[in-house]
Amino acid sequence: MNTGKREIPYPARLDLARTPTPLEPLSRLSEKFGIDMHVKRDDLTGADLTGNKIRKLEFLLADGLANRCDTVITCGAAQSNHARATAIAAVRLGLGVRLLLRTRDPANPPPLAGNILLDRLVGAEIVWLTFEEYGRRVEMLAAEAESLRNSGKTPYVIPEGGSNAMGAWGYVRAVEELALDLTTLPGAKDHPTTIIHATGSGGTTAGLILGVKLLGLNARVVGINVCNDRDYFLRVVGDICQTAIDTYQLDLPFSRERDIEIVDGYVGSGYGKAGSKELSLIREVARSEGILLDPVYTGKAFYGMSQELERNPEVFGDRIVFIHTGGLFGLFPLAEQMAPLL
Ligand SMILES: *Cc1c(COP(=O)(O)O)cnc(C)c1O
Repeated sequence: MNTGKREIPYPARLDLARTPTPLEPLSRLSEKFGIDMHVKRDDLTGADLTGNKIRKLEFLLADGLANRCDTVITCGAAQSNHARATAIAAVRLGLGVRLLLRTRDPANPPPLAGNILLDRLVGAEIVWLTFEEYGRRVEMLAAEAESLRNSGKTPYVIPEGGSNAMGAWGYVRAVEELALDLTTLPGAKDHPTTIIHATGSGGTTAGLILGVKLLGLNARVVGINVCNDRDYFLRVVGDICQTAIDTYQLDLPFSRERDIEIVDGYVGSGYGKAGSKELSLIREVARSEGILLDPVYTGKAFYGMSQELERNPEVFGDRIVFIHTGGLFGLFPLAEQMAPLL
């Protein structure tokens, strides 16, 4: 039967995330900016599994199990939310987990705080890499996989942030949820929506772009980068989208320049470094909406969105959905830095 709706060719998926997540209004901020602002609560995908990574891992770990893996390997920053979600989900599936995390001095690794505490709590094996080694992470992951194979294991390698064509399916599925969420709003889902989120390794942005196209949603996808720059993400996000289109034979028109929108200028003093402007914004959103943003991703993206809106309240149209991609555990190691603001 032709229902007029395109069948979405999802690969196999495990049920690991608490979805669908709610779409909630940002009432005070909507009033402040004179537009309709909502937040998609992907910080509620789980207490321990909180955030966007578990959506990607539903597909990635299904692929790992289909390949009969017994150990998962991935990489990230020391306080990586992706590494923490991978570690917990892997243990839940009875798999071993090895994390390649970067730090200034591997001989003096960072304290047991935030995500690192949880990685260690579930027994993840952590290999500390220097920044220089982390620059060669693809090679380092392959070497770890090789050494595991040599000891009789069957590893499954997940790239940084779970950001590849397989992981991107997680955000295609999120767009499918969002399309349903939007039917309850005035103007329903045909009213133009701008979907705003933090871009860190590119997989979320890629999945959102593909999802909007596959569902024919009347939406503009805007990523605010928290590291690197716009050119880097046109390449990285473009590569993930193109690989997905080729691998899954998606019949979609796609152009990097036309379809990928990255708002640059809010990296601040660098990845993972929040300044007083971002921390004050985190405090403002906590106190006006009761929504807790994180210092590495959502705080910076929300700050960028607010700055753009201060400059021109119409820049994103009159309906915004901010995707809250999680990251709460990254807030705790910053207690000292936040103290003067509280
Ligand atoms: C990883 C992460 C992001 C960025 O998502 P990518 O798919 O890596 O671009 C945003 N927010 C949080 C809290 C994250 O952990």
